[in-house]
Amino acid sequence: MAKNGKAGYIVVKAPDDYPGHTYWGLRYVQEHVLVWWKNTGHVPAKGEHVHHKNENKGDNRFSNLELLTAADHAKRHSKPPALIRLQCSWCNASFTRSLRNVRVQLKQGQKNFYCSRSHQVQAQQVARRETRGIPLWILLSQVQMHSLPRRTGGSRATVAQAAKLKTRVNSNWGVAKR
Ligand SMILES: [Zn+2]
Ligand SMILES: [Zn+2]
Repeated sequence: MAKNGKAGYIVVKAPDDYPGHTYWGLRYVQEHVLVWWKNTGHVPAKGEHVHHKNENKGDNRFSNLELLTAADHAKRHSKPPALIRLQCSWCNASFTRSLRNVRVQLKQGQKNFYCSRSHQVQAQQVARRETRGIPLWILLSQVQMHSLPRRTGGSRATVAQAAKLKTRVNSNWGVAKR
């Protein structure tokens, strides 16, 4: 018994009647391929892979083996992406994204992440108006007017009322401080 270092599979000496491909010109064969052939009479063709169900390449019991196309085999070994937990820059909700994508976006200079497309759009609208010189807290008060007390009277609020409103908006909307 020997190890085929490259792929981590066990190779064994092929029996004289084994009809398939053998390695090193010495009639060695990967043990899991041999086990498959012994149990099914089928030598895996090019583009067919014998997969180890428990992913242990040393476990060559027939019950642990499965014949797959190369494409299905690749899928079987692809791992789900690593996730990163982020906080929405608009609503502070916690959400997850693929770590890989976030890394790319950070490299591209992205600073804010949003739990949803609609929160991204709302934040961008506010940012756009902000650059035209309208204070953020007024914009936020417009966005959330329905949840604010009537007596502030919208745009006609007094300075004192406006200050109160600003405090209220800031406490309701974590995004006000940037
Ligand atoms: Zn496999
Ligand atoms: Zn959000």
